Amino acid sequence: MLIVMQSAATPEQIEAVCRRVTTLGFRPHAIPGAQRTAIGITGNQGAVEPAAIEELPGVAEVILVSKPYKLVSRDLKPDTTVLRFPGHGATIGGKELAIVAGPCSVETREQTFATARAVRAAGAHFFRGGAFKPRTSPYAFQGLGKEALQIMADVRAELGLLIITEAVDEHSLELVDEYADVIQIGARNMQNFSLLKMAGRARKPVLLKRGLAATLEELLMAAEYVMSEGNYNLALCERGIRTFTDHTRNTLDLSIVPAVQRLSHLPILVDPSHGTGKRNKVAPMARAAVACGADGLLIEVHPKPEEALSDGMQSLYPEQFAALMLEVEQIAPILKRTVAPALGAVPAGVGV
Ligand code: PEP
Ligand code: MN
Repeated sequence: MLIVMQSAATPEQIEAVCRRVTTLGFRPHAIPGAQRTAIGITGNQGAVEPAAIEELPGVAEVILVSKPYKLVSRDLKPDTTVLRFPGHGATIGGKELAIVAGPCSVETREQTFATARAVRAAGAHFFRGGAFKPRTSPYAFQGLGKEALQIMADVRAELGLLIITEAVDEHSLELVDEYADVIQIGARNMQNFSLLKMAGRARKPVLLKRGLAATLEELLMAAEYVMSEGNYNLALCERGIRTFTDHTRNTLDLSIVPAVQRLSHLPILVDPSHGTGKRNKVAPMARAAVACGADGLLIEVHPKPEEALSDGMQSLYPEQFAALMLEVEQIAPILKRTVAPALGAVPAGVGV
């Protein structure tokens, strides 16, 4: 059920409705929108009686939501969610495209800073590097863990980039919540429900990647897990799904972008790096992602992809990333989007 408050409802009236919902044994989620606040109700103890709410001051209407997901639905919040970061102008879900770039894995301090300087100069405002890597083989590089988080914290301090990195379990989630600006939940964990619940109780925004074989509804239900625990700062990411094709690592399902935008207020990024697995296909699919209305891009970049400890085949050279950004800048205005000016070049040697 969804309670739509009148646009003139006071904070006290919203508070009183939330108290009533709690008294009835449910959990209220007050989500402010551009025009009005809506209060989503969660709890698994049956339906709420609308009459118990309808008459309260400030309530405009009570709507029964038939979809299995409630809080992620556009019914709750007609305007797209914008993730904001205190002290930074960059957003995810705003008019400006969110440009997220970095190496698959943080390998060394030098490689991390070299990549960060390059993507910063080309226009990325978010730096994404892997500290905890979910690898298919237990013998493959598993990430530097906490050491990588510290290197990325230094990147933020010295280069002003916002940090996104993946948590793979409850221990790493605690650390990522402490060090990073955005907690990534990867494709393999999209239905790790205890991890999703923990991310829902974290302080930082969450970037939730679509599972390898997840339907749209499964993706939205996974997002619902995070929101139902009280973390409303959440973005989705299409990263390709498993199909019978073998010319790419995954099949990048761009049609999910307008499908998500129709049903949900959550922003959605596109990751053409994992979505294709092949360097020569990353830029074309990144251009297509912007053209179909994605809220941003997640791109893997490595100064020496041939030496990368993970995902070198799909990592762009820094010059390729810079060229792509120039193209994205030209496509964005057609979609009434913009690309924030690059933070600029930083003298070599900073942070290393
Ligand atoms: C990653 O982002 O490096 C990653 C492992 O992605 P995914 O979860 O989409 O496979
Ligand atoms: Mn990767």
